[in-house]
Amino acid sequence: MSVFHDEIEIEDFEYDEEDEIYYYPCPCGDRFQISKDELLAGEEVATCPSCSLIVKVIYDLDTFVKEETEVKKAFGGL
Ligand SMILES: [Zn+2]
Repeated sequence: MSVFHDEIEIEDFEYDEEDEIYYYPCPCGDRFQISKDELLAGEEVATCPSCSLIVKVIYDLDTFVKEETEVKKAFGGL
């Protein structure tokens, strides 16, 4: 099936709060990307729009969902 170029921990991704997308530099010069919604849905494959490489995102879904829920509470439940 899919062959991952690498496995990257979510902490190593750069998070764009405006777009709610996590980015990680790709060897081709572009960036792997995966959205917060995809992560919350259990998706763990970040793709590069400029080449065919993919990376596996290492994260704990339960922890991730919990943190997201707490952030929402901090903003008054919005
Ligand atoms: Zn690439």
